[in-house]
Amino acid sequence: MTISVAIVGGGPVGLTLAAALAQQGRFEIAVYQRAEDHFRAETYNPDRCYTIDITGHGVRAARFIGITDRFDTGLIHFKGLKIAPHPWHRRLEVGFTEEPYQGKGRTGSRGDICRCLQAHPLERHADSVALRFGAEASIVDRGTHAS
Ligand SMILES: Cc1cc2nc3c(=O)[nH]c(=O)nc-3n(C[C@H](O)[C@H](O)[C@H](O)COP(=O)(O)OP(=O)(O)OC[C@H]3O[C@@H](n4cnc5c(N)ncnc54)[C@H](O)[C@@H]3O)c2cc1C
Repeated sequence: MTISVAIVGGGPVGLTLAAALAQQGRFEIAVYQRAEDHFRAETYNPDRCYTIDITGHGVRAARFIGITDRFDTGLIHFKGLKIAPHPWHRRLEVGFTEEPYQGKGRTGSRGDICRCLQAHPLERHADSVALRFGAEASIVDRGTHAS
């Protein structure tokens, strides 16, 4: 039996969840995202501009949905940066040093991460995942999904 699922929010988490459910093979998923298609949105939103580090559980989630190759090409390698005062300066000046990190993390703008995550279900799970952009959900009805 196919189970119908509505996911409200097509950010990093909603898109990851859609891919994770789709690979189970028994869900029909609709993702409702009020903003526009990530491929049409600007890489950096001046009102909401930040990079996200994908380490630890984020890397495990990426492995789980099989997106690490796409992250390798679409994002940059994570390098931990430690903010530390330079001891050789009289005045307290702040410098950045690289913090040793043994894991295989990635860093990217939210937009770049979302574009990787949006391309993934479109290529692998187009039969079971529908991405609905410009769709703000206000009510989720068990029968008809969002309106
Ligand atoms: C400055 C800053 C730095 C950060 N750095 C990191 C970091 O390094 N690592 C990390 O893991 N996290 C970081 N975060 C947290 C980061 O925001 C989240 O990890 C990530 O964006 C969470 O993804 P999400 O999909 O849960 O939420 P969001 O990115 O907020 O996406 C939710 C989406 O749902 C949509 N939405 C909401 N309500 C509705 C509705 N009713 N109908 C339709 N669509 C809806 C929104 O438009 C939005 O696009 C940072 C946050 C900030 C502000």
